[in-house]
Amino acid sequence: MSTIVLLPGDGIGPEVVGAAARVLDAVAARFSIQITTASHPIGGVALRHGLPALPPATLDACRTAKAVLLGAVGDPSFDHLPSAERPEGGLLALRRGLGVYANLRPARLWPGCEGAGPLKPELSKNADLLIVRELTGGLYFAEPRGFAPDGLSAFNTMRYSTEEITRIARVAFDAARRRKKQVTSVDKANVLETSQLWRRVVTAVAADYPDVTLSHMYVDACAMALVTSPAKFDVILTENLFGDILSDEAAVIVGSIGLLPSASIGDGPGLFEPVHGSAPDIAGTDKANPIGAIASVAMLLEHAFGATDAAKTIERAVVRVLEAGHRTSDLAAGGTAVGCRRFADLVSAAVADA
Ligand code: NAD
Repeated sequence: MSTIVLLPGDGIGPEVVGAAARVLDAVAARFSIQITTASHPIGGVALRHGLPALPPATLDACRTAKAVLLGAVGDPSFDHLPSAERPEGGLLALRRGLGVYANLRPARLWPGCEGAGPLKPELSKNADLLIVRELTGGLYFAEPRGFAPDGLSAFNTMRYSTEEITRIARVAFDAARRRKKQVTSVDKANVLETSQLWRRVVTAVAADYPDVTLSHMYVDACAMALVTSPAKFDVILTENLFGDILSDEAAVIVGSIGLLPSASIGDGPGLFEPVHGSAPDIAGTDKANPIGAIASVAMLLEHAFGATDAAKTIERAVVRVLEAGHRTSDLAAGGTAVGCRRFADLVSAAVADA
């Protein structure tokens, strides 16, 4: 029996994790996958119970689990706290604690969602890309960081080592081998020394992958190309800050940020989560789109269990529900929308029926 730790978190996190967990139960029953789930607090919900944003017991449970499924963290009522003590600090600490250095964020158009976003359908229709983002280094983690004693200036450090760049580059090239065999490495080598090292190391790693085509792009040019010609990308390899921004931009291609799943992989248990945040503006209204979380379960089954058939069954079930015309309100364009719970029930039924 394998344990999957559920970290619902804040805002819409419990809604989308609840939805995804029901789909997980349906697919586990369908494919006889022996799993048990256990929920633990993280983020604002932990702070409200007088615990740190990442309680030690939560980290311990995650470290011994087969995989971790997270909703989202973030609660505006804690925005006055120093960064490390906010709900978001709990997630950064979890990524660090699990050593999940590679964040995989696929973005492709779900059938029937053409035109759901602001891009012209002819631009987005063939988009199918994977952003491979370095997750435990760079500006978000490197020291020194902080405020000057007078509080009038502040500083962060962008630092990367050859080892950090090499291991994330290998993840990207390995992924490209299973796809269209193209890697676009994104940096700012015209300005940043970290990017010059990044470019040099990625180029060296590419020598081990002669079957994969490598190109380099500056992040500003990539930001533009992602919305003007998204279909030309296969795997985008980039560092932490750039990947954070570009992967949100990818939401514009697919129609809603609620559609995007992610997998964060290291040497131990993986962390699987939708890309979106806690969406306080719609929390508690049953309006959240659960597809990002449900597709994260598919990635979990693929990466943690090697259960490709189960993962594909979930994806096909989502497609069936969309093709039947069901939409959550972010995709309904003013038409009739179904709630988060109902959408998950429809997907679960489609899984059981597959
Ligand atoms: P957000 O992703 O929470 O919301 C941005 C917009 O997208 C909002 O209008 C929201 O309603 C909508 N949205 C998000 N997810 C949706 C879904 N599943 N279905 C339908 N609509 C959805 O980003 P934000 O507003 O910048 O941040 C809110 C909080 O979440 C902040 O505290 C932030 O720090 C935190 N955050 C957490 C994560 C994470 O846990 N991984 C990621 C990003 C932001």
